[in-house]
Amino acid sequence: MKQTPRIVILGAQGAGKGTQAGRLMHRLHIPHISTGDILRDNVARKTALGKKIGAIIDGGQMIPDHMTNAVMRNRLRQTDCSNGWIVDGYPRSIEQAKPFHVFGKPNVVIELHFRDKDAIKRLSGRRVCPQGHIYHLRHDPPKKKRGHCDHDGLPLKQRADDTPTAIRKRLRIFHARTEPVISWYRQKGLVVEIDASKPIAVVYREVLKKLKRLPWLSSQLSTK
Ligand code: AMP
Repeated sequence: MKQTPRIVILGAQGAGKGTQAGRLMHRLHIPHISTGDILRDNVARKTALGKKIGAIIDGGQMIPDHMTNAVMRNRLRQTDCSNGWIVDGYPRSIEQAKPFHVFGKPNVVIELHFRDKDAIKRLSGRRVCPQGHIYHLRHDPPKKKRGHCDHDGLPLKQRADDTPTAIRKRLRIFHARTEPVISWYRQKGLVVEIDASKPIAVVYREVLKKLKRLPWLSSQLSTK
């Protein structure tokens, strides 16, 4: 039975959700929707929402559930989502997961396992471009010009919430509010578990291997 891929990627900060989601996007030709990117874009454009949430994001706190739910409900209504999507960083609480199960209804949840002590090490080397492309100083540096994005040439920056204090706060929130979401999805039989401590390419191979075991998704992964 053919199903459109409705994939969620969850995992602790620094597990590589955005990186893996970006690769799957190219493989499956479906949009990669990062809640964090949409929220940061609102801050950059100084929208009404953006003005309310900039300080919350920089401090490593979660945006109120009703705001994130509204943002995601609207995003998934757009036409590019009609053949499926990969959502990264949402839902992060049961209060997000329940409504999402009505308007989005994911059919697979990838859980990237990552230890807290590795998160701080990995995130302190992360650099991003204003368009959301992600690099790592050591593991995935830009190939064309040092400190600049390979795709658009823009200078790379460190995110304000990638400081050790903000990372620790984000990890505490992950354990308290997002882990119960993963358990909730596990009870529904939707979770595919991946060890995210390995290099990017190894993790990606493992993601593909496990997703190909899903009968409804395997042909879409091989032919595209
Ligand atoms: P991320 O890029 O996924 O690390 O998200 C960066 C920040 O955006 C988070 O620390 C939160 O402040 C906010 N954010 C992203 N996704 C959510 C979400 N699902 N619920 C609440 N806040 C979120």
